[in-house]
Amino acid sequence: MSKCIFCEIAAGRIPASIVYEDNMTVAFMDIHPVNPGHVLVMPRRHFETLSDMDETTGMHLFQIVMRVEQALRNMEGLRCEGTHLLQNNNTAAGQDVPHVHIHIIPRFADDGVQFHLRTGPTPDREALNALADAIELAM
Ligand code: 5GP
Ligand code: ZN
Repeated sequence: MSKCIFCEIAAGRIPASIVYEDNMTVAFMDIHPVNPGHVLVMPRRHFETLSDMDETTGMHLFQIVMRVEQALRNMEGLRCEGTHLLQNNNTAAGQDVPHVHIHIIPRFADDGVQFHLRTGPTPDREALNALADAIELAM
């Protein structure tokens, strides 16, 4: 099995620009940033997707995401007028590195970055309610 590149970063075996690390998480600069200041936050342990990860790790991960996001907003010299959080699970959703990570992408007006949600027609309330109930049941 080929080595997980993000596990290698977490172990310090390959170089990365580390923003923050503790016993559960590592935050580091994305090597192909969408905009300057693009940070990835990952659990130190290998989980392939969000649904493989335990909630305790997930809660801590999100705490660090919130702190990094706030830091980006506070920084002088970095144009961070808004942010995107992005977390891809599985190849169908565009996940390239199969080790859970959350992207924090600084945005500024006219940066040319385009994230579009392809929205469809509005379903009727009955259909939305049926899905809401089914999802609640699945929880
Ligand atoms: P994904 O599509 O899996 O959500 O995103 C993977 C991200 O990891 C991409 O934005 C890519 O630029 C970044 N990435 C891939 N390999 C490396 C690497 O070796 N080092 C760092 N710092 N980032 C990487
Ligand atoms: Zn890994």
